[in-house]
Amino acid sequence: MIVVMSHGADKEKIDVVVNKLEKFGFQIHLSQGVERTIIGAIGDKTRLGTFELEAMPGVEKVVSILDPFKLASRNFKEEDSIIKVRDIEIGGKTIHVMAGPCAVESREQLMESALCVKAAGATMLRGGAFKPRTSPYSFQGLEEEGLKMLAEVSQITGLPIVTEVMDSKSLPLVAEYADMLQIGARNMQNFFLLKEVAKTNKPILLKRGPSATIEEWLMAAEYIMAGGNHQVILCERGIRSYETYVRNILDLTAVPVVKYLSHLPVIVDPSHAIGKWRFVQPMARAAIAAGADGLLIEVHPNPAEALCDGPQSLTPENFNSLMDDVRMVGKIMNRDVPNAI
Ligand code: PEP
Ligand code: MN
Repeated sequence: MIVVMSHGADKEKIDVVVNKLEKFGFQIHLSQGVERTIIGAIGDKTRLGTFELEAMPGVEKVVSILDPFKLASRNFKEEDSIIKVRDIEIGGKTIHVMAGPCAVESREQLMESALCVKAAGATMLRGGAFKPRTSPYSFQGLEEEGLKMLAEVSQITGLPIVTEVMDSKSLPLVAEYADMLQIGARNMQNFFLLKEVAKTNKPILLKRGPSATIEEWLMAAEYIMAGGNHQVILCERGIRSYETYVRNILDLTAVPVVKYLSHLPVIVDPSHAIGKWRFVQPMARAAIAAGADGLLIEVHPNPAEALCDGPQSLTPENFNSLMDDVRMVGKIMNRDVPNAI
């Protein structure tokens, strides 16, 4: 629930309410505005009810949050959340594009990818070192060696890195190198892993599961937030349907819907949604028009030779063209998009 303090409620009155809520086992999230203080309280309402709280000095009203997700809800926090990854801010006016290969394959491949995406205006580098592959016979990633390459290339180019963590066993290692941890679509409801990443102080890129409803996706975000980590960025990456021509169906409806339901930033990954490079650029344009805060795009110096997801990877040239479109649509949407260098 939300406890709205009255206009001139002083610190003493706020503290009394906070202490009482804490005594009854509520988790407190204080939001001190210029005009008034709002106390977000998560806990068992049967132990301390609305009437009792509303009778306390300085309390104006108590509002229940009916959504099953609380901390992630727009009703809990009205203003957009901005998540910082090193010196970039995701969820603000600037659209951030995270780009790079599906998997880290070699130092050269990663370096070439990083330099070209940076030159085109991307502000983060993506690349998997631990890969969740459908087939056990497919390339599984370079693991720690790949993480080291990411760290080195990040240091040289200045691009922060986002990379996937697949299990809690490898979490300490991945967290050592990553600026942002990616929870892949297949792990969206791995609640144990969600609780583990909640204990890190890293921003989390939470991909939507291929069969997850929007509510299930937001509940997954709630796991991370309830565990103490509020730095969550949601990523729509396509959901299952009967259509076989494309890999998944990019659910762009989810962008305005999630922005209505939640204050968390939302980015879109058209590469994994579509699975074919030719359609990535038009859907990237559409994602920005739908209100996405950023994009995750697979780029490979030589897609035909890629060890993973070559068919959906853009060449550096095609990525340049995509970024031009993102700047164009971004302008219409009154967003800033970094220039090509
Ligand atoms: C990825 O981004 O490399 C990836 C595996 O994506 P997803 O989890 O969306 O399939
Ligand atoms: Mn991929």
